[in-house]
Amino acid sequence: MAGEPQDDCLFCKIVAGHVPATIVRETETTVAFRDINPQAPTHVLVIPRAHHRDVATLAAEAPELAADVLRETRAVAEEDKLESYRVVFNTGAGAGQTVWHAHAHVLGGRGLEWPPG
Ligand code: IMP
Repeated sequence: MAGEPQDDCLFCKIVAGHVPATIVRETETTVAFRDINPQAPTHVLVIPRAHHRDVATLAAEAPELAADVLRETRAVAEEDKLESYRVVFNTGAGAGQTVWHAHAHVLGGRGLEWPPG
């Protein structure tokens, strides 16, 4: 069922506290934690507690939850005092998605080039 925790999902395990993570913010519906392989001085992942496989599914199945995730990306940027930053949702394997639980990358603290690779 949409949103139910998945036994084989790493980020569901982080939400449940079964896998450790450096958590920077938590709300009733979201968790934000530092990426284990940071690509910038700030590299935080914001995820919904509920399991949705990617941001497209999240937006379709639970638009209010997608809004919660977006709101939290801003809160993370404010917490790390980022004047500019990038929010990325890799969607699909061809775009680099490797974890199939929707997540926003919040990247900042260095210059970011455009277009991305
Ligand atoms: P994706 O490639 O867009 O799916 O992003 C997945 C992200 O999860 C990558 O940036 C990984 O470095 C990160 N990641 C994988 N395992 C962990 C973990 O256990 N803790 C924190 N971040 C992780």
